Amino acid sequence: MEIDFSRLAHGLIPAIIQDSETKNVLMLGYMNKEAYQKTVETGKVTFYSRSKQRLWTKGEESGNFLNLVDIKNDCDEDSLLIQVKPVGPTCHTGADTCWQTENKSDFGFISTLENTIKTRRENADSEKSYVASLFEKGINKIAQKVGEEAVEVVIEAKDDNDHLFLDESADLLFHYLILLQAKGFELNDVVTVLKGRQK
Ligand code: AMP
Ligand code: ZN
Ligand code: ZN
Ligand code: ZN
Repeated sequence: MEIDFSRLAHGLIPAIIQDSETKNVLMLGYMNKEAYQKTVETGKVTFYSRSKQRLWTKGEESGNFLNLVDIKNDCDEDSLLIQVKPVGPTCHTGADTCWQTENKSDFGFISTLENTIKTRRENADSEKSYVASLFEKGINKIAQKVGEEAVEVVIEAKDDNDHLFLDESADLLFHYLILLQAKGFELNDVVTVLKGRQK
């Protein structure tokens, strides 16, 4: 990819660094022509450090390199989106990101639902909350519920009523998320196992 560095202020292009897997933004840095070329050649993200006034390969001291996956220039060719696989925490403070956030996978609405289940478990009145009442009944009861919902999914899969099939699928997923939490896990723990199986 050609970048016209002469068009850019101080010959620098800002580069947003994103984890290729979790999609979290890890940091922002600047590249000059040499930094960009070195990044492409070595596959390790290299910036031009304005404070050090030299090329800086992220991880050169800490070993926490940013392994290059993909580079995109934006619509008017003045900012880069760089996808990486980070070797360790990206921020020099030891945090995963320079905004002190965890670089965890986010499953969007499913993650929101997991949080709702967690707060119900911790705070809700089991008279009023179905989730809280399930936690009160214990793991065996929750596991049994998952089994029942799974059977209902199997039954509906044999029919051609899409509405019922999706309804039972939602029931199964919901109760499965509750079972995971009752066992002290979250969906991300299962995803980690699945990722480990990928060749
Ligand atoms: P590293 O590149 O990880 O070996 O770190 C070398 C030095 O670069 C650190 O001591 C910090 O001064 C600086 N540094 C490391 N990571 C960052 C970052 N994410 N943002 C800004 N400066 C950093
Ligand atoms: Zn732009
Ligand atoms: Zn930082
Ligand atoms: Zn059901």
